[in-house]
Amino acid sequence: MDQEVLREIAAAWRSANNIVVFTGAGMSTESGLPDFRSKQGLWKDRPETLATLAALKAKPDEFYFFYQWRIARLWEVQPNPGHLALAELAQAGFVTKLVTQNVDGLHQRAGSQGVAELHGTLRTVSCIKCGSQYDSRQMLPHNDTWEEDYKAGRYRHGSECYCPRCQGQLRPDVVLFGESLPDTAWNEAVRWSRKADFFVVIGSSLVVSPANYLPQLAVEQGAKLLIINSDSTPLDDAAAWVIREKAGEVLTGIKELILRM
Ligand SMILES: [Zn+2]
Repeated sequence: MDQEVLREIAAAWRSANNIVVFTGAGMSTESGLPDFRSKQGLWKDRPETLATLAALKAKPDEFYFFYQWRIARLWEVQPNPGHLALAELAQAGFVTKLVTQNVDGLHQRAGSQGVAELHGTLRTVSCIKCGSQYDSRQMLPHNDTWEEDYKAGRYRHGSECYCPRCQGQLRPDVVLFGESLPDTAWNEAVRWSRKADFFVVIGSSLVVSPANYLPQLAVEQGAKLLIINSDSTPLDDAAAWVIREKAGEVLTGIKELILRM
């Protein structure tokens, strides 16, 4: 890592007034969160078909296994140094708004507050009938062999998937395919992106709309753009700095420089 560049970034970051940090899937790969898309075969349908309200009604077994598997993995992993560095920077006043596409809740578990979760969260589930909200672990099977049971074709969709209050079905509080983004999170993200004078993209390839809209908006308003991502993005040319290294190391380095200045 070029220390000169890091120092330059840290100085610009430190002197900015409205710092918006936008994170995508690449933020959590260092936590070891498995990519559910590569688990083809474990579920019979594609995630795009499974992650819908229609699937919850028509194939509850498949739907619940898919989400139980994802929720179980989520609580097994820990925030990585990148999540921790951002939380520390926020506490010191160097992150004004954190916006994420991730549903894993690792920013919050690292100590970040007021996170705008554009795609909702897997930390909680809600009853589709009465709206009661629960910790998502409520939906995990109590039986230890549930994954084996499922693979062996044994029925395993049980009472864990019902609301204890009204027996309605539980659903993860994520945005399912075909649903729109939560208004509050999105409006907040737009408002802060417009105000930003320093915008940081971490672990997002910025190819999916409307994610790419936020940094674009910030740049149009004159914000300096920093991109930390393993692959190139369509906004690389508009960025003041592009870093293709592991987010955890880069953020830890920048954080130490900022807090020492
Ligand atoms: Zn209920």
